[in-house]
This record gives sequence, C-alpha cells and structure tokens, in this order.
Amino acid sequence: MSEGRAAAGRILIKGGTVVTMDPAHGDLDRGDVLVENGRIAQVGADLEAPGAEVVDASGKLVIPGLIDTHLHMWQHPLAGLGADLWSDEDYGIKVFPVRERFTARDMYESTYTCAVEALSRGTTTVLNFCHNVLSEEHAEESLRAHRALGQRVLFAYGMLGHMDRLAAEHGSRLAHLDRIRGELAGDRDGLIRLGIGVTSLEYGGMELVRKEIEYGREHGLMMTIHQNPPGQILEMHQNGLLGADLVPVHANVATDHELGLLGACGCCVSFTTEGEFGGGRSMGVIARADRAGVRPTLGVDVPSAVAVDMFSQLRITLNIMRAVEAQVEREAGRWPLSRHPGSPLVSARRVLEYATVNAARAVGLADEIGSITPGKQADLVLLNTGPFGIGVGDPANHIVLQSTAADVDTVLVAGRFQKRAGELIGVDMEALPRLFQGVRGRVLGVS
Ligand SMILES: [Zn+2]
Repeated sequence: MSEGRAAAGRILIKGGTVVTMDPAHGDLDRGDVLVENGRIAQVGADLEAPGAEVVDASGKLVIPGLIDTHLHMWQHPLAGLGADLWSDEDYGIKVFPVRERFTARDMYESTYTCAVEALSRGTTTVLNFCHNVLSEEHAEESLRAHRALGQRVLFAYGMLGHMDRLAAEHGSRLAHLDRIRGELAGDRDGLIRLGIGVTSLEYGGMELVRKEIEYGREHGLMMTIHQNPPGQILEMHQNGLLGADLVPVHANVATDHELGLLGACGCCVSFTTEGEFGGGRSMGVIARADRAGVRPTLGVDVPSAVAVDMFSQLRITLNIMRAVEAQVEREAGRWPLSRHPGSPLVSARRVLEYATVNAARAVGLADEIGSITPGKQADLVLLNTGPFGIGVGDPANHIVLQSTAADVDTVLVAGRFQKRAGELIGVDMEALPRLFQGVRGRVLGVS
C-alpha cells in the first residue's frame, strides 16, 4: 500500500478560488472546502474545522478532478508512434497491430506509467478502454496497475481480443468478466469499477454486440463502444440497444437524427478532439450533439499520438468548436460574425462541464464526482496561477485558456492526497522511466 492509500482524514482547503461546477454553489472568490472521510463535507467562506489539516489554497484555483472518458492506457510507451498518421488506415497498419507484442507484464507497466502521468496532470478519473485483452493475464495485470495507484478508474474490459477468434472466445471472455466482477465487488475502497469495452459493430457484428450489451445491462455495468462507420447508432437503436449506460466514442459521422436518438435516452458521447481533428475528422459533431441534448465528454484516446493531458483537450476543444461554428456562420452569409441567440454555443465553462459534470455521468458516477458538492467524493485539483494570478472574468476562462498540466499543484482522490505541492505521493519516480523504456524496448525494439 502506498502512502497515498492511507486513510482519508479531515482536510480544510482554505482561501482558494473555488470553481464548484455546481450551480447551487457557484464560484467562490476566497472559498474553503472541508473534506471528511473522503467526501466533501462543506463548501463556503471562512469555514471552521478545529483539528482539520489545513491546506493553504490562496492564489490557487480549486476545481473538481478532471475525467477522461476514453483512454487506451496500454499505448502509453508508444508515444510518438502515432504521430503524423494520415488516415485510419495508417493507424490500423502502424499502431494497432503493435498490441500483439504486448505481454501481460507490458500491460502492467504501460498502464501504470500512463495512470501516473494522467494523475499528475489532474485527471482523477479515467475510463481505461483496455482493448488489448489478449489473455486473462493482460486484463488482470492492467487491473493490478490500477490498484497500485489511487486513481479512480472505470476499467472497460475490451471484448475485442484476437481478431480471428472473436466469436470462438466470446464465452470464455464473458466468464472472465464474471470472475473479475466478483473480485472487484470485494474491493474495499471502490475506486476501481468494471465496465465493458464493447466490440465494434464492424468487427463483431450485431449478435456479439447484443450479447455484450445484454450482459452489461444484466449486471449493471457501464459500457462504451467505438463508433466509426456511418449508420451504426441507428442500427443499435433499431435493435433496442441504446441507453444511458452505453457511451459511444467519436461518432463524427452521426446524423442529426441519430444524435436526437442519443439525446432522448440521456446518452453521453466521448469526443477525442485532438486525435479526431488531427486525423481529419469532422468536428462539427460536438456542437450538433450538444444542441441535440447529448452530453459531450472528452478523451485523450491514443497516448501513441496525443499527450495524456486533459488541459490540452479543453483548450483544443473550445477553439475547434469556435472555428467550426464561425465556418457555419460564414457559409450562412452571417459575416462578419455577430452574436445572435444560440450563437456562439460554446464557452470555456461549457467545455469544462464536458470534462467534469458530463463525464461523471458518462462513467456512471453523476451523483459521486464531477462537481464540488457536499456529499460527493473529494476528487479535487488545486491549480497554481503563477505570479500574475487569475485572469479577469469567469475563472473557467483561466482554467481552459491559461492553465496547463504544469500548474497542477495538488490532487486528491476520495479525500486522499495523490499529489501535494507538486510531488506525487507514493510513486517511485526513478523507476518510472525504466518501466516506460522497458516496454518500448520489448515491443518496438528501440530504447
Ligand atoms: Zn479509441
């Protein structure tokens, strides 16, 4: 057990600019957050808490922990391999097949280093879409890596195993899910939950996908599915498979009708803006989804190409959405730009919602995380604001447009310090590069 897993105590975070993301509490210019037994006990000004450990947050922003809803953590040591791809086909040739060289040990080490990087950059919850479960040990070692840290995880067990044996292995994979479900049910602190990374329709076909989703529903598991070719959302709707417990990823090709279907069932979608935009996909879908009542969320997706950093995703998403919206206005003859009802749609605060309150819903924890609300889990990030302090206006503007991962000073998950005053707790920093380079050497033959 690391120091970071020590029992959560009573902590008073004092005098910060608190951005609660909860309309009932708003923002506090000089606010305090009291943490008790891992949960947020109070939010307000000048709180009294005799005996509590006091954390001075003056000059800092206090925000809910960021939530990444789509991350393939096993790809972490492949950083750079996915740079400069020019098509999905490129990805299918140059990056994805490398997974077959990963052993269970490689899965442990890559998941661990990725989790450390995400946590140190303020991502307190990840949805690990583990689509490299080539053996039971691959999944179990990935889970062991998650247990070694105190990050909150939805472990989406990838049903896409060996591509040529999807149907043949299906039964044994569901049996393995049964066993993991049983083991995690006894997990004392409950930070790690099991979900399903459903097989993509174009690989598995409707009958396998249906079995997986029915299994997930029977056992109350959150699920997520890659959605790339057109028409799949409609097809899943026609088969009665859509639901708020199923998070499509990408969905760039979704029609407005399909987005309406997702919105009607309270769905979230994970948009992985940098990977999608960098790969040439249409990003107009994010605003169309938001307008259709879908809750957008954000993900890094592929560490082989994209930094494991949600601050980048926030900023890129805001600016791409603005650029796309301006293009729509230009093409409609509304140029030069002027404000009119409903436009511009997106603001820094709205994008911050994507990575907090919306994402909490996507991982099935809307009542537990995503905002600084009394009663919720104390998943919190304190951000330095440097010698010049917070910019004028909405502090969400500062978080999205000014803050970087380097500003992450302190991170708590369930009221336990995972990072404090810039230092990760319970992580052997000297061992990290050896783990990372070790995997890279074994699977790519380079150091
Ligand atoms: Zn993906």
